[in-house]
Amino acid sequence: TSSSPVRVDLDGNTIKPLTICMIGAGGFIGSHLCEKLMNETNHTVLAVDVYNDKIKHLLEPESVPWTGRIQFHRLNIKNDSRLEGLIKCSDLTINLAAICTPADYNTRPLDTIYSNFIDALPVVKYCSENNKRLIHFSTCEVYGKTIGSYLPKDSPLRQDPAYYILKEDTSPCIFGSVEKQRWSYACAKQLIERLIYAEGAENGLEFTIVRPFNWIGPRMDFIPGIDGPSEGVPRVLACFSNNLLRREPLKLVDGGESQRTFIYIKDAIEAVLLMIENPARASGHIFNVGNPNNEVTVRQLAEMMTQVYSKVSGEDSIETPTVDVSSKEFYGEGYDDSDKRIPDMTIINKQLGWNPKTSLWDLLESTLTYQHRTYAEAIKQAIAKPAAN
Ligand code: NAD
Ligand code: UDP
Repeated sequence: TSSSPVRVDLDGNTIKPLTICMIGAGGFIGSHLCEKLMNETNHTVLAVDVYNDKIKHLLEPESVPWTGRIQFHRLNIKNDSRLEGLIKCSDLTINLAAICTPADYNTRPLDTIYSNFIDALPVVKYCSENNKRLIHFSTCEVYGKTIGSYLPKDSPLRQDPAYYILKEDTSPCIFGSVEKQRWSYACAKQLIERLIYAEGAENGLEFTIVRPFNWIGPRMDFIPGIDGPSEGVPRVLACFSNNLLRREPLKLVDGGESQRTFIYIKDAIEAVLLMIENPARASGHIFNVGNPNNEVTVRQLAEMMTQVYSKVSGEDSIETPTVDVSSKEFYGEGYDDSDKRIPDMTIINKQLGWNPKTSLWDLLESTLTYQHRTYAEAIKQAIAKPAAN
């Protein structure tokens, strides 16, 4: 097979093959994690999701070297009694299932809260009762806004990292008012983190919590009207990709002033594999996983994506590459935003020796090459014969 015969952990111990129950395995992160586990390890994956389009390439061929190491279980964890059995027969459960696109937080707050809190409860309970390890996916959004965002615009303290760097063990969680339903997601994720932490403290649950900071790459979300609903609003990478593919201006919400740090999915997956294979170093911890070196404003992201797309597609960019839109127009009532997100890397660096590698330009180049190859032809056809078809 493609995996090396003997794999060792960070402490030099041989890694024994694990059975992993991966919930949400058919999503963006899950698909990359399944790929990594099949290509580079001997672990077995019980892939749970309601969809499998993004992992079809790993499931279909009978001849692939990992046949038998990945099984797809189509089930909705909201209401399926098979879930407990799958967790019981695994060594480790990884929960990725969630509603996690901002366009849903203020428009479908009930589904958002149920998905991120209520539906995760049985997963935590089954892991705790059966003494199974849990890696749960939370979000950097649990930090909410920075302390600095509440200082006057001209305050010199805004430049002080103490007012904006996000640290797992010391930063507070700062959300807007309840009417700002944007925070329904962050709040649900925060409460499930607290519940998992409490299960660890009171009942000995062996857990790791992951807080992803804007992981991006191929297979993220969908392109509206091609492999997702035409009126759907995916996360920013797919929104901007869609605009570039259709030669439309990229929409900057409220001026595109918010800042984000973007990390290449393949760098981030390395961190998750280290957590899987080094339980003694990962258990009981909450880890930021992001790339503090890749910070841009959303406006700068739009400009860079425009340049990169022009390079990979060989097409000149359009005359007006961006247009401003209000958040109310774009997302509707109740939207609010995180102003700035720079992860502190001390804990993950100390526990797992992990650091991100890929620059923003390089990750956009490989991702937009993928977007162009995957969608440019379909978009051309959709534009040529609209409606009826
Ligand atoms: P995704 O939407 O691509 O994947 C989530 C998957 O979970 C989907 O395939 C979905 O079908 C599945 N799912 C949802 N509800 C389910 C249910 N009831 N039963 C079975 N399957 C269900 O999202 P992603 O980007 O892969 O994110 C995975 C996790 O990471 C989520 O918990 C998300 O909150 C978290 N996260 C991701 C990012 C990021 O940068 N991508 C940032 C912050 C947090
Ligand atoms: N955004 C934007 N135009 C778009 C889509 C998103 O300006 O077409 C902004 C959005 O308001 C936010 C940032 O891009 O400030 C990142 O949005 P994303 O949906 O990726 O998720 P978030 O990082 O907010 O969780």
